[in-house]
Amino acid sequence: MINYISTRNTEIKVSSSKAILEGQAPDGGLYVPDNLDTIKLDYHDVIKHDFKGMAKVIWNTFFPDYGKDVIDELVERSYSNKFSNKKITPITGVGNDFVLELYYGPTAAFKDIALSALPNLLTKAREMNSFTDEILILTATSGDTGSAALHGFSDVPGTSIIVFYPDGGVSETQRLQMVTASGANACACAIKGNFDDAQSGVKKLFNDIPKPAKGVALSSANSINIGRLVPQIVYYFSAYKQLLETESIKDGSKVNFIVPTGNFGDIMAGYFALQMGLPVNKLICASNSNDVLTEFFETGHYDRKRTFHKTTSPSMDILVSSNLERLLHYICGAEHTAEYMKALAENGEYQITTDELAKLKSVFIGISATDTQASEAIGSVYKNRNYLMDTHTAIAWSCLEKFKDKAWAYSENDEDAEYTNVVLATASPYKFCQSVLTSIGAEPAFSDQANMVKCQELTGVPIPAGLADIFSKEIRHTDVIPTSDMAEYVVDYAKSIGV
Ligand SMILES: *Cc1c(COP(=O)(O)O)cnc(C)c1O
Repeated sequence: MINYISTRNTEIKVSSSKAILEGQAPDGGLYVPDNLDTIKLDYHDVIKHDFKGMAKVIWNTFFPDYGKDVIDELVERSYSNKFSNKKITPITGVGNDFVLELYYGPTAAFKDIALSALPNLLTKAREMNSFTDEILILTATSGDTGSAALHGFSDVPGTSIIVFYPDGGVSETQRLQMVTASGANACACAIKGNFDDAQSGVKKLFNDIPKPAKGVALSSANSINIGRLVPQIVYYFSAYKQLLETESIKDGSKVNFIVPTGNFGDIMAGYFALQMGLPVNKLICASNSNDVLTEFFETGHYDRKRTFHKTTSPSMDILVSSNLERLLHYICGAEHTAEYMKALAENGEYQITTDELAKLKSVFIGISATDTQASEAIGSVYKNRNYLMDTHTAIAWSCLEKFKDKAWAYSENDEDAEYTNVVLATASPYKFCQSVLTSIGAEPAFSDQANMVKCQELTGVPIPAGLADIFSKEIRHTDVIPTSDMAEYVVDYAKSIGV
């Protein structure tokens, strides 16, 4: 049976429900399955089910201490009546390639898939471990996690949530989705800093004030929580199932997945899918101009000491990709992972060994694209294929084009370019409407609301229901604080909900 260990220390070992409850290991590491052999299975036994059925098999594999009946119930609760497409994550052919659409949830980004699940997993974990404290979820967001988490945890008993987002670092639509969040247990707060400041601030709070008030304990909804990562594995299987059903591939053929990457959670789920036995060829890690991962997969040198770029794909504006630590654990072992993470914290960089780099390259390819290239991709794919993409998906699409043009430059294996390609579409184009309109050659209007209406008129793609009403909802959260005040903010909030 799977247990979870810290990426930095194999001696720290807990059950799956405990790992979900704690969010992060006490030594600052992330929880990972102690043995990848225990997650291996025959993928046919997964893809014979519908989305919920696949989720049940996968959750059962990763979260054995919940028990099958409980998992069945939690999956049903997580995915019934929340998604506007009955396949939940449908796949669409665009030219000779495929796009896996992950944005039919309540907040129109792929994070809904995991954040519909996590609150259910977490409240059950609380019960299973006889935990009586109120759980205060702290989340740093580059835009999309915030609204998805506020939505997922809204009025879930036994939990409260604070979301920290970079002031001025999210789109108007993303901001409105957060500041109008209506749950009585939910709050959004802007910090004066960028996403990395928000994320490192939150990480520090977990170490400094794990119990910010009597009867209150902290936990995380960021992708450092394994309960957030595992539900994302499901759509890789769903993609494969749909490719088979449409006879786009032969059973057993391998597939390349191109993943627009920020915190490395989404693509890490793809790595787990591969380890489980899904026929995956390469995982292509697509970055915007914050191309720290592109350099890393090329050279094995991780260097966060570079200029932070604000781009039109803000959810990928990240210099420290937390979940990479999980991959490091499996490639380099706990001891090296601990060393590298220490070096990253102290010097802002680390270098893995040649052998480790070779292992990484056997699965991963890092490619980056600029805002201009993404914008061109949106324009040309819309014009030539009548398909509308958001800015994040467009980064991945541009990276795929580069890869198809010059696979030899990115990979030592010539055959990589011959496999079927699936681009993960992580957000609805309506979340980043202004950039999308400009890219398809339209003049943006004066507000996000007007832009959405205009985009719908022009393209005929309907505005997602969850985005249509944010402009008329009451603004409930107006706080803006310096990062240095985050601890005090959390303590004050915790006191208000504690015993
Ligand atoms: C969060 C996000 C990403 C990045 O996903 P990670 O799991 O952090 O790598 C990409 N696109 C969109 C739209 C997102 O919201």
